[in-house]
Amino acid sequence: MKRRQTPTVTVGSVSMGYGWPVRVQSMTNTNTADVTASAAQVAELAQAGSELVRLTVDGEEAARAIPEIREKLRQQGIEVPLVGDFHFNGHVLLENHPQMARSLDKYRINPGTVGGLARADDNFRTMIEAAMRYGKPVRIGGNWGSLDQSLLAEIMDANSRRRRPKSSHEVLLETLVASVLRSAELAEKIGLPRDKIVLSAKVSSPRDLWSVYRRLAESPYVLHLGLTEAGMGDRGVVFSTAATAPLLSEGIGDTLRVSLTPLPADSRAREVEVAREILQSLGVRRFAPSVSACPGCGRTSSAFFQELAEQVSRFLALRMSEWQKLYPGVEDMKVAVMGCVVNGPGESKHADVGISLPGRGEEPKAPVFIEGQHYTTLSGADVAAQFISLLEDYVKRRYGAAGG
Ligand code: SF4
Repeated sequence: MKRRQTPTVTVGSVSMGYGWPVRVQSMTNTNTADVTASAAQVAELAQAGSELVRLTVDGEEAARAIPEIREKLRQQGIEVPLVGDFHFNGHVLLENHPQMARSLDKYRINPGTVGGLARADDNFRTMIEAAMRYGKPVRIGGNWGSLDQSLLAEIMDANSRRRRPKSSHEVLLETLVASVLRSAELAEKIGLPRDKIVLSAKVSSPRDLWSVYRRLAESPYVLHLGLTEAGMGDRGVVFSTAATAPLLSEGIGDTLRVSLTPLPADSRAREVEVAREILQSLGVRRFAPSVSACPGCGRTSSAFFQELAEQVSRFLALRMSEWQKLYPGVEDMKVAVMGCVVNGPGESKHADVGISLPGRGEEPKAPVFIEGQHYTTLSGADVAAQFISLLEDYVKRRYGAAGG
């Protein structure tokens, strides 16, 4: 997939931009001032695969907590880059808390919330100068919910003088893009190099996101991609996927955050899992073996095949932390779990390892295919355990040092 030519921006130990993988990132929802809870959630997100984690820094207590969170994570051997999210008072906090400024690996600045209108440029300059002093990159992150109102009024005025004025919605999107681009230019004028600047401009409708990011893609900056306020549950997942997948397929987006509102029972790490699934489904990145399973229908005799697909997925996720160190390339493996003879053998043959379970009325036997060839036929009450042990052997054989 062709990516945009951009500089490389390095955040802590993680580089992004042209030539680097599209990075997965996430954001905590704990009170940052609660060091124990915040460090635990950062650890959870990092373990789920988040390559950067952002925390809100909204006041003195949060600013004081950042170095402690950093230290707590270090004690656990977690070095994930931390990003500070600033609004309204970032210029004050970065000036007054040098230890916090040093402990963070990147600062997020929202051009719409850098302070009162009269002071906006000065406050922005203070934050950019802090980034330069501490050698940190920034993300200039606009959001249509917190647009720079003076710029909006200026662009609205100019629009009203056009022969064919654009709709107010179009002007709003235009202002969002102009706001982050102008701020990036200002940051460069102040002296922050281009390889320390990431841009984002978030909206909450997939179509608007396409329009905004296709315009941003014409700029030379590294882009942080994400839909804001995607929502809860299935809606959040579907909207985020619909919004980001076309752009990622066009090579737009150097780092991805999926903003899900977690359901009460959900872990915050769900947003990391979804981001990884989006990237893996597009072939942009490979994180873990994929399991394809048929949807099941009237031919499936029981829930057994769904349970097996779920068991296999869980087994693969569990084994990946060890496998990825021992067996390079294992993340490319494809496993198929199919419900009956109609598509089972065919689909199983397309996978590296596939099993075709017996449907209603079929003989209680489950042929297994490896790399397109019939390998064995499983039967009995412990088909799941047999198949999982067969997968373990296959991974060792195929991806181990002696493997092909
Ligand atoms: S493979 Fe068989 S069980 Fe699965 S959806 Fe197709 S027909 Fe139904």
